Amino acid sequence: MSHPIVQKVRAAGVVGAGGAGFPTHVKLNAKADTFLVNSVECEPLLYKDKELMRLQAARMVEGLRLAMDATGAARGIIALKAKAHDAIAALEPHMMGPLSLHPLDNYYPAGDEYCVVYECTGRVIPAGGIPLQVGCVVSNTESLVNVALADQGLPVVQKALTVAGEVANPSTFIVPVGISAREVIHMAGGATVDDPVLIDGGPMMGPCITDLDAPVTKTSAGWVVLSRQHKLAMRKLAPEHQRVRIAKASCDQCVMCTELCPRYLMGYAIEPHKVMRMVGFAGEQHDQWGRHGLLCCECNICEYYACPEDLTPRSMCVRAKGAWSKKGKWPPHLEGLGRIHPMREARRVPVSRLVHRLGLTQYDVPAPFRDFAYEPPRVRLMLKQHLGAPAVPMVAEGQKVAMAQVVADVPEGKLGAPIHASIDGRVARIDETSIWIERK
Ligand code: SF4
Ligand code: SF4
Repeated sequence: MSHPIVQKVRAAGVVGAGGAGFPTHVKLNAKADTFLVNSVECEPLLYKDKELMRLQAARMVEGLRLAMDATGAARGIIALKAKAHDAIAALEPHMMGPLSLHPLDNYYPAGDEYCVVYECTGRVIPAGGIPLQVGCVVSNTESLVNVALADQGLPVVQKALTVAGEVANPSTFIVPVGISAREVIHMAGGATVDDPVLIDGGPMMGPCITDLDAPVTKTSAGWVVLSRQHKLAMRKLAPEHQRVRIAKASCDQCVMCTELCPRYLMGYAIEPHKVMRMVGFAGEQHDQWGRHGLLCCECNICEYYACPEDLTPRSMCVRAKGAWSKKGKWPPHLEGLGRIHPMREARRVPVSRLVHRLGLTQYDVPAPFRDFAYEPPRVRLMLKQHLGAPAVPMVAEGQKVAMAQVVADVPEGKLGAPIHASIDGRVARIDETSIWIERK
């Protein structure tokens, strides 16, 4: 039988707060010997996990203890950056019994789930597998804060996020779910360029979005505001056909993309240079197309850091994964090194060098938490803020709703989580993607 927290977490709509939004109640319903908190936050310029640990250490640890109870985990490990001194100082008094901190150096992608599990436990997740296969459940800092709140009957109606880059005051805020990026930028003192675009979720893995009315969701980790003319924004906004053309252009098979690939260095069968070779020669119609890219975690080391020609190996790996998904059959994994590469440690990419390479040095400043009292006039709640099925509206246009009321839920038996009103108000509009609520 499930631990009582599992149902409370489902009812509170808790999902992974920094990635794809995997529903947390499903993770807590598993059995593992180790519960890992991924607080590494390796994307440059983002600080919301560090700030949450600094300010809400006791609550996060409470969430961790509940999660360990639910999963039966005998130990709880918090992986974080060694440079997060104030977060470590806030957490240390709580580290007793089965709880411990695991500080990591400031390299990228230290927060990749496969890396975190290996660094903290020495266990290697099977190719294409999940942490549970090696006895671990991994969750994010904010998700565990939300687990503790769920235990008190409080649903997810707020989101922590960092706003960095071209804003007057780079900051971390806790804001109502559903307010717009434009409002969050205003809270950070406004954009300092005339043509702002947003890198959503971190400069390495996040997409570039041009719609400043995009709403905050339960998975928003932060926004880096840049000029549309910034080279990183331009690379991210490049159309797919251009990426393919670039991939075919001038790969000299130097193999740097593979030699620095963090998944390759962990021994997995991934060799992006071979994917590039195939794009340029055999072509995408070949029946083996892209097989060397299927274990890609999309970290972008190859594309933004390793490749001396500014080519697009990551984009081609993603394209290959999409092509195999469309076929509806995934081929067996190829043979990898089968062991940790002896040069893995030496080839870690320091975040400071990465920031420089991305052209973000001038934005590499602290973004401390700021308390900002703001009552948004309206919110837009996306029906899909999690992995799984979209939530289905449970309210009607014109209906009055109270903050924390369930306004949408996923059908019985489907993967997902309910959505709650983040303000008091009236349902102004419902469409196939969202519910708009206007304050009374
Ligand atoms: S994005 Fe590139 S470096 Fe990262 S895992 Fe994929 S192939 Fe490797
Ligand atoms: S690093 Fe760039 S040039 Fe070298 S093999 Fe990879 S894609 Fe080709």
